[in-house]
Amino acid sequence: MFDCRICGETQIYNYYCEDCSITRRICLTYGKKEVRDILERVCLRNKKQMTNKINIIKDKLDKEEKKDKKELGDETYINPNESVFEELKKKLKK
Ligand SMILES: [Zn+2]
Repeated sequence: MFDCRICGETQIYNYYCEDCSITRRICLTYGKKEVRDILERVCLRNKKQMTNKINIIKDKLDKEEKKDKKELGDETYINPNESVFEELKKKLKK
């Protein structure tokens, strides 16, 4: 038994787990420097970049929420206006 040389996951036959074997092959294909540059540019975010990403996701969720509300259709059917009920009550009393 071996521990994967990259992630430390215990393996029976290989020095690399299945996931790290793929990563290793990508490194062999593109070069470890290129792979590291891509990982740093794509995966590592500074605080400003993280805040920006969070705001983009929040805006997207807000837009989807507003869109869902608009798709309900006739709002008087779902959330009846009280003045309409009052008017109906008066008519029924007559
Ligand atoms: Zn691994």
